[in-house]
Amino acid sequence: MTYDIIIVGAGPAGLSFARSLANTGLRIALIEKQSREQIAAPEFDGRDIALTHLSVRILKELGIWARFEPDDRPSIKEARVLDGTSPYCLNFDRGNESVDVLGYIVSNHVIRQALFDEIQTVDNVDLHCGLGVTSVSTSDNDATVVLSDGQVIESRLVVAADSRFSETRRMLGIPASMHDFGRICIVCRMQHERPHDAIAFECFHYGRTLAVLPLTSQVSSIVVTAPMSLRDPIMAMDEAQFSHDIQHRFNSRYGDMKLISKRFAYPLVGVHASKFYAKRFALIGDAAVGMHPVTAHGYNLGLSGQEILAKEIISAATKEKDIGAPSLLQRYQRKHMRTTLPMYHGTNEIVKFFTDDRVPAKLARQITLRLANRMPLVRRAIQNKLTQERA
Ligand SMILES: Cc1cc2nc3c(=O)[nH]c(=O)nc-3n(C[C@H](O)[C@H](O)[C@H](O)COP(=O)(O)OP(=O)(O)OC[C@H]3O[C@@H](n4cnc5c(N)ncnc54)[C@H](O)[C@@H]3O)c2cc1C
Repeated sequence: MTYDIIIVGAGPAGLSFARSLANTGLRIALIEKQSREQIAAPEFDGRDIALTHLSVRILKELGIWARFEPDDRPSIKEARVLDGTSPYCLNFDRGNESVDVLGYIVSNHVIRQALFDEIQTVDNVDLHCGLGVTSVSTSDNDATVVLSDGQVIESRLVVAADSRFSETRRMLGIPASMHDFGRICIVCRMQHERPHDAIAFECFHYGRTLAVLPLTSQVSSIVVTAPMSLRDPIMAMDEAQFSHDIQHRFNSRYGDMKLISKRFAYPLVGVHASKFYAKRFALIGDAAVGMHPVTAHGYNLGLSGQEILAKEIISAATKEKDIGAPSLLQRYQRKHMRTTLPMYHGTNEIVKFFTDDRVPAKLARQITLRLANRMPLVRRAIQNKLTQERA
């Protein structure tokens, strides 16, 4: 079988990229390890994804946003950052007066569902489910992929979107720097007595962090990060103990809180590939850069990266040029890395700074929050980054 592009991984990044290339006339194969049934009806996985205005603009252009019910895309009007037990907080509101919210939250399974449904309406994408990749080899002119059932498929370009632990990235020998934070991220949903008024909280408590993200008026998404050694004790708490613990750590701001979903635990490992391309091969999504969730940028970067690569490919195809040319892939890497490198390292530094529980670090954090509140230009720059629609 011969295609123009083979995409490995039909997660949010791979599906978005395939959708970006719809109606181009390019023949695309999308290879996914999970069964068709699993990706056709993705289950709630605890992840509620905060989306920037840039991501919303891309999802609208791809026809995905219109597939979300209004209740499935609640907005964030303000964000507050707290440190330790101090009530003092750093405030973020709408940076750009022309927008009325800071961002939106959509559950990961809802995003995957909408993308899958949209891909069903596209006629240039063949979805091959329940199959892994055994080998990938590339030459100056083409690429060959062997699937786990022995099928051999060829293309002009292979794009890996197979998670931060990408096997195809390894097969092509692209090194990646990995940072194991030695911490766990536990996510779930909780109902509360009082409304959240569309405010998101990020609380840097000693040894742990707690994010409370607004969903429907009395339901929030809860994101706890803690040392890996606390994974089992936290997951073993019964519902009442867990609910009480979170309510207490959140200072009962919303009154009584109650766990209303399963809890999911994700080990925290950050990954940044040293290159985003090799011969007739490119990385997108978490396979290119897998972020710590504290700054909520993983899928946001995945969406902007796939858009950059798709635009380069569409432009080359329109001019009947090579869609796997090294110069094209190099341009993709240059444009995308300009954003990913500072974001990745900056996020890792924020995590280090806010989880260092030595006394000088605690003092430095308090000073930083106060200084940041008094520096409108710094806050405005962050706010504008969240609300701008173009990179
Ligand atoms: C707790 C948590 C909270 C988060 N919050 C946010 C947030 O608020 N905002 C944000 O922007 N991001 C957030 N993220 C990050 C976001 O979830 C990821 O960036 C996004 O899911 C990555 O999508 P992906 O398609 O690159 O990879 P994945 O979601 O990992 O999907 C990879 C796909 O590839 C398939 N696959 C893997 N290996 C193979 C193979 N060899 N062959 C074929 N198929 C394969 C897998 O089955 C899967 O379907 C969060 C992440 C976590 C863990």
